[in-house]
Formats: sequence, C-alpha cells, structure tokens
Amino acid sequence: MTGTFLETPIEYLKGVGPERGKLLRNELNITCFGDLLSYFPFRYVDRTKFHKTNELDADMPYVQLRGRIISMEVVGKNRAQRMVANFKDDSGIIELVWFQGIKWLKSSLKTGTEYVVFGKPTVFNGKFNIAHPEVDEVNEENLKLQSSLQAMYYSSDKLKTRSLDSRGISKLVRAVLQNGAGKIPENLPADIISNQRFISRETAFYQIHLPTNPELLKKAEMRLKFDELFYISLTLLRQKSVNQKIFHGFRFGSIGEYFNTFYKSNLPFELTNAQKKVLKEIRTDVGSGKHMNRLLQGDVGSGKTIVALMTMLMALDNGFQACLMAPTEILAAQHFESITALLKGMNINVGLLTGSTKISVRRKIHEQLLSGEMHILLGTHALIEPKVQFKNLGMVIVDEQHRFGVEQRAKLWKKNTNPPHVLIMTATPIPRTLAMTLYGDLDVSVIDELPPGRKPIKTIHLFDSNRLRIFGFMKEQINLGRQIYVVYPLIEESETMDYKDLMDGYESMVRAFPRPQYEVGVIHGRMSSADKDISMGQFLKNRINILVATTVIEVGVNVPNASVMVIESAERFGLSQLHQLRGRVGRGADQSYCMLVTSFKLSADAKLRLETMCKTNDGFEIADVDLRLRGPGDLAGTQQSGLPDFKISNLATDGAILTEARNAALKILVEDPQFSQPKNQVIASYLNFINRNKQNWARIS
Ligand code: ADP
Ligand code: MG
Repeated sequence: MTGTFLETPIEYLKGVGPERGKLLRNELNITCFGDLLSYFPFRYVDRTKFHKTNELDADMPYVQLRGRIISMEVVGKNRAQRMVANFKDDSGIIELVWFQGIKWLKSSLKTGTEYVVFGKPTVFNGKFNIAHPEVDEVNEENLKLQSSLQAMYYSSDKLKTRSLDSRGISKLVRAVLQNGAGKIPENLPADIISNQRFISRETAFYQIHLPTNPELLKKAEMRLKFDELFYISLTLLRQKSVNQKIFHGFRFGSIGEYFNTFYKSNLPFELTNAQKKVLKEIRTDVGSGKHMNRLLQGDVGSGKTIVALMTMLMALDNGFQACLMAPTEILAAQHFESITALLKGMNINVGLLTGSTKISVRRKIHEQLLSGEMHILLGTHALIEPKVQFKNLGMVIVDEQHRFGVEQRAKLWKKNTNPPHVLIMTATPIPRTLAMTLYGDLDVSVIDELPPGRKPIKTIHLFDSNRLRIFGFMKEQINLGRQIYVVYPLIEESETMDYKDLMDGYESMVRAFPRPQYEVGVIHGRMSSADKDISMGQFLKNRINILVATTVIEVGVNVPNASVMVIESAERFGLSQLHQLRGRVGRGADQSYCMLVTSFKLSADAKLRLETMCKTNDGFEIADVDLRLRGPGDLAGTQQSGLPDFKISNLATDGAILTEARNAALKILVEDPQFSQPKNQVIASYLNFINRNKQNWARIS
C-alpha cells in the first residue's frame, strides 16, 4: 500500500525534465505525480459552444470563436513588442494579442486558415481583444477532441513561457493518468468508502481532470473533498488530543464565595439562557482537570463581558489570578470601568495595564501580581510581555482578538508552570465550518441569543445625493436626545487621501451642524491615546452629538445612547467591518438606525454586501455571505493564523461534507487512535505521505 507511483518526482514525467520540473516545484508546489493529480481544475468550459465576435461582453470568463486571421503584425520595440492579429468571423473583427513567443507565432500562424480561438475577452481602448488566446486549426481531429467539460488550470506567467499554460498542464495530467492505471492506492478505509458510496480514488482523479459527464464529475468532487476535509480534521483532532494529554489543566474544584456573592448580590440582570449554557460549558471544562482551550463566539452585544467576568471569578474562588486582554486601549479602559463597577463592594483588586500606564503604576502592578495581592489584571498586549509575572495565573481571557493564533497562546502559557485555562472571545462570527478547521484544536461555545428587549437595528442604503435627507434625519434624532457616529473608511494603502476625506467630512458636518446648537467631535488613529480618550469621554458624557470617526471605534466601544450609525463610502468596507460598526449602536433601549451611504457606482459584490446588511442583523448569516464573497483566506481573523491550504474544498459551500468528514475522523480516533486495525492502515500510510515535507502542517500544530 505504498504510494510509490504517486511519489515519483515530477521531473521523471515525460515532457517535464529538470527545468520545467523546477518551475512546477517553485510556482505551484508540485513535486511529484501525486501533487500534480491534486492540482485541481478551477473550472470547466464547454468547448462545443462557439461565440460570435459581435456578442462579446467583458464579463464573459472565456469565449470560443471560429474564424480566420486576416492580418497580423509585430508592433512596438523591445519589451513593449507584441504581436497583434486581426481575427474575423462572420459577425465582426477582434484583435488577438501576444506579448511572448512572437518568433514562434510569426512562423506558425497563417492568414486565411480557419482557426478556433479560445480565451478571455477584455476591453482595451474601447475595443475587444483577447490576450494570449489558444489557437487551433479547425480540422476533424481537433473538433472531435473537444469535450463539453474541459478542465481549466491556473498557471503563472513564468510557467506560460515554458508552455505550461492551462493546456500544457492538462497534457501532463493526462500523461500521469495514463501511466497510473492500477497504481493509485486508496487513502480511506474500505468501510468509509462503502458506507459513503464513494467512487474509487483512482476514478475520482480521472473524472476530476477528464470528466465523462457532469454526474461523474460531481461524484469525483464529493470523494476528493471528503478526502481533503477528512485529513484536515484528523490532523487537528489528533493535535487536540495530544495537547490534552501533555497539558493538564488546573482543576477548579469548587464554585465559591466570589462567584456566588456576585451572582446573588451584584449581577445587574438575569443571565440569558445562552449565557448560562456557556458558563456551564466553561465550568465543566475547568472542573475536569483538563486544560481549557475554548473559543467563545457571540454576536456584538450578546453579553460576553459578563461571561468573562464570571469565568474569572471561578479562578479567584480556587486561589488563582485571572487576566483579560483587549485589542485596544479604548476597549481595555472600558472593560476596567465596567468591571470595577460590577464588582463594587466585593473587595477584589483589579488592575489596568496598557502601553500608556505610567512607570510608577506599572511597577506597583508588577509587584502586586507577584505577591498575589492583585486578583484580576485587565489590559492590552502589554499583558503578554515577559516582565508581567503572576503569582498564580489560572485563567486568561482574550477579547475580540482576531489575530490570536497558536503562537500567542503559547506565550501566555509560559506565565505559570502549568498553562492557565484560555478563553478566546470573538464577536466577528466565524462560520462554523471555518471555526472547525481554523480553530479545530479549540472547543467552541456560542452565545446565540441577545439580551431581552433589544430592538433590531434598522438599516438602509442611501446614495450621496440623499445628503439633505440624511442630515434632516440626523437633526431629528439629535432633537430626541440621541447621539450619532459618522464613520469614514481608512484603508492603509490610501491613508493620506482617506485622512483628507475624513477631515473634509468633519468640516462639512461642522457646517451642517453649527455651534452652539450642536457639538461635533472627531476621533482617528493619528491622535494620541490621550486625545482619543478625551473625545471618547466627551461622547460618552453626551457632550458631543456627532462623533466623526474612522474604524478606531470598530470594536467593542459601548455608548448606549448612540442610536445612529452613518457609514460613508460604505461600499469600501467589508461585510464583517460593516457589521462590527453597526454593532456600535442598538445597545440601549431606543430604536437604532444604520445608514449606509454610497456613490451610484457599485460593483456586484458591493451591492450584495449592502443588500445583506439591509436584510439581516444576524452576524452568522453575514459571516456566511462574507465567506462566500471573499473565501476563507481573506476573512477577518484568518490572516496569518495557519488556515490549512484547501485544494478543492470550499468552506462556504461544503459544510455538510466537512461535518461528515469530521465525524468519520472523530470516530476513528476514538476507536483506533493508533490506526493499528488492518482497515485503518491506509490512514497511517497516507498521513506519512502528506506529512513527508509539508511545513504548513507543522505550522498548524
Ligand atoms: P459583547 O458580547 O458585544 O461584548 P457586552 O458584554 O458589552 O457585549 O454586553 C452588551 C450590553 O448588554 C452591556 O451593556 C451589558 O451590560 C448588557 N447585557 C449583557 N448581558 C445581559 C443580560 N443577560 N440582560 C440584560 N443586559 C445584558
Ligand atoms: Mg465585548
């Protein structure tokens, strides 16, 4: 059951050789036959259909035309040199353009010969052209080979210069498949294959590259997606069980005085059922002696802070200290205020440590942490610094941190001889599929219910031209005593321009809402944190009616009297950002509103984002659309966090397969963790194959 054929170095394939082999390794990470077979097409095109030149549309991904070249010439000098051919069919003429391989084209293309041309049409100078099209002479043989499902592969400029374009890659794949008959071993146990009614792995490879018909293609996709998701799940689940064996957690045997006193005397409201359920899950973890590594997801405003606080009290009750880390100073300060207020009269020593904490205060905090006098420490990243040492840290809570990967968690673990329990809280809902893969080594809890009495925020989309209506509405709301955020985009690449937009916006607000009747404030990332605090403080005290801001207010900020969120150039924000920003309102008892202001020109994606925002307040629904639009790699929270590299699965659409695959992996890990049963030996050998030199797997674990 070894994969010798699949492990054959790619250079050994006829038509590859050392030079192209090196390119395939460097450009596509294809090192052996197996890698090539797992280099899947990104789409299939119907090569039996022909378009007319007069019906082209720049949105068409690919077109196939049939006609003749009526003239061609080489234009430009040196690097700008290109070959331009006028191609005519019975409806019109378009240009074909090549920037490379000109010498060869000059000798092989003929005017007057009938060709089939295949490529992507683009508009240049008001005319359609196709750059680097595939060109084939029309003859019986070529027309016969056209399949209605021809696989298309991504290639790169470098590969194309070595004729490894989509078609070149397809030829190589075909060669491997031809030699591989009977040499492609299974990688799943026989019982899974028969239970799931899967086609064989060999057939699946064959059909994914050279589909016979859409039904078989579908079956091939199912099988290969399952394979991929099964092995990703298996790896993550195994890591989790290894972690649990290595790290024993502190056992918090009892719920004691702090927790109970808080519950009886200080808790200002009844917990929602969702909050209770999550607290129970946490309680079970920390009471069991295993090491807690839990992700808590809950939409904006779902009440995660109180859960965090009560979780910290569990640690205190068992003689441990606890800390909570927030991503910004604004948020850390806000937590400090609300938590100090919640703990009033309880004799618990709470500290706040951020980058701007004075040295003298900082020293005192360090001392009190070491002596154990300080029970709870709140702060920013300053908490992870090695200088911050605890007497007995038992619980770490990380709030709203999108980029809190395995490495940072490891740093926290060094703060005690045994690693403290870890709870990561996020309001950027991560679709379940993504959570299962990205945070597969964590347990997941969800607060799926908002505190009672919240009115859903009303969201509308308006154009710049509705400015007067917007101002009118803002005035009405201010007259009712409400406050307003107006947010401008700030994108790193165009920071200077955006900054100008923000300040222009601020000035036009001041003009439309003049003193003394109105007060307009501003807050942005270039201000010192002291100035930011002042602005935020003024807004919180309702001395400012309108706060003009960048996304510095995106996360966590809590001003319940603010009930209108105006987002300027809303088309420039991603969905999760829009959702976060909208979450700044709707925190009090009043009806809240979100106005998404855009220009008239909107891309299809932008329209979908705006529609989604107007349609729903549900963060999970929004996250699913976001995932569909952007793919997992670009979602907030996944950058640099070691997302497995998916070759065929799509987390936005393959949730059901992922669940099946994960359950199958879990079952095997329970029944036969060492893969020693004969039927499971294929797993052991396939794991060896995929782990032979893959750094990305090492990164996950
Ligand atoms: P988030 O999950 O976004 O961090 P917070 O913890 O800031 O949400 O809570 C949002 C608001 O809801 C706070 O003002 C908090 O006091 C309030 N809140 C939390 N839980 C409840 C509850 N069970 N009933 C009523 N209000 C609650
Ligand atoms: Mg919060």
